[in-house]
Amino acid sequence: MTALPSNRIYAEQLDAADPLARFRDRFARPDESLIYLDGNSLGPLPLATAARIAEVIGSEWGAGLVRSWHHWAGLPREVGDLIGEHLTGAAPGQVLVSDSTTVNLFKLVNAALDAQPGRTVLITDDDNFPTDRYVLAGIAAQRGCELRMIHTDLDAGLDTQPLLAALGPDVALVSLSHVAYRSGALADMEQITGLVHDAGALMLWDLCHSAGAVPVRLDASGADLAIGCTYKYLNAGPGAPAFLYVRAGLQDRLRQPIWGWFGQQDQFAMGPAYDPVPGIERFATGTPQIIGTVAVAEGTKLLAEAGIDRLREKGVALTSYLIHLADEWLAPHGFRLASPRADARRGSHVTLHHPDAWRVSQALIAAGVIGDFRTPDRLRLGPVPITTRFTDVWDALDRLRQLAAGKSYEHLPATPSRIT
Ligand SMILES: *Cc1c(COP(=O)(O)O)cnc(C)c1O
Repeated sequence: MTALPSNRIYAEQLDAADPLARFRDRFARPDESLIYLDGNSLGPLPLATAARIAEVIGSEWGAGLVRSWHHWAGLPREVGDLIGEHLTGAAPGQVLVSDSTTVNLFKLVNAALDAQPGRTVLITDDDNFPTDRYVLAGIAAQRGCELRMIHTDLDAGLDTQPLLAALGPDVALVSLSHVAYRSGALADMEQITGLVHDAGALMLWDLCHSAGAVPVRLDASGADLAIGCTYKYLNAGPGAPAFLYVRAGLQDRLRQPIWGWFGQQDQFAMGPAYDPVPGIERFATGTPQIIGTVAVAEGTKLLAEAGIDRLREKGVALTSYLIHLADEWLAPHGFRLASPRADARRGSHVTLHHPDAWRVSQALIAAGVIGDFRTPDRLRLGPVPITTRFTDVWDALDRLRQLAAGKSYEHLPATPSRIT
């Protein structure tokens, strides 16, 4: 590993040379002293979004009233195309903004099972995000299918060996996260999709922790299905609608389980029976959430302006710098890296293991640095490329080493709160 200087001046130099530095001013920053390393949980508010939402509420809803549906109705698909073009490597007509990630997963997994009657096994891994594991288990229970759970190391991320061992002619679908929510481990989308296809199964990727942080190449990798949220790196705000991807060649073979009127042919004919439109809009359900969808558009445009390749480059620089400082300053205080060390195997966040991680995370918040705690004993730090400075990383780790050295977290309650 190259030895980086550990003084603050070096961080200041990195900031001065950062081509994305100016984007920081495009976000609301009411508290200058706060260091926010949790944009991978809830991204910050873009100023353009606040302005655009005010306009949508005041003029499109307030004055336009129901007439605004003429242009609102196409938004889920138009904004989906923006996500496809700039962030997820998908040609137009394959991404739709809709529902939540959880609901989209339910829709696509059921559709994938229905399309492959002889195949009744679903595969995921035991380190996948809880909602993914629960939805898959729920579908398996409802349909009398098998959910085959492969083991993934909490820190190292997916291993292809257990996946290969689990694949077989009975498998309908493999559902995995592209970037692991806890460790930040980045899976090789193309390689894994290829292995799954060799077994004749479909591949679904959850992009919640990768969309907007690492370049995603859905079309090029041959992925069949994908889902992702927009309130993390896309900065669209709490509960903003999610997106889904269905490969063009697969769309008309799939029929989702929620037969809603927004996926219906000639919707306002109010016909007697469900007959879904061709194309991606058949995966819509009911009335889309317009204010949230507008926020997704603004968040995506901002990332597009910065450029996903530059965002990735900065994400790697920030996380490798963070790891360097953690090795130097925190390892002596009982912290251990719980994320892949190789840049190419890591998304945009870094996780540190510490036996007292919950109390450390709370003490760190009290010291003005927001990261988060993840079970069982991990501190997750997400330096978000579009807003985080190298000096933020330096200052955050400096505060962390001070509270670790003074053990100033030891007086805090040891039991985690409801939201961590
Ligand atoms: C954040 C996240 C989700 C969240 O799903 P919601 O339906 O938005 O609550 C799902 N999967 C992964 C991998 C996530 O990181």
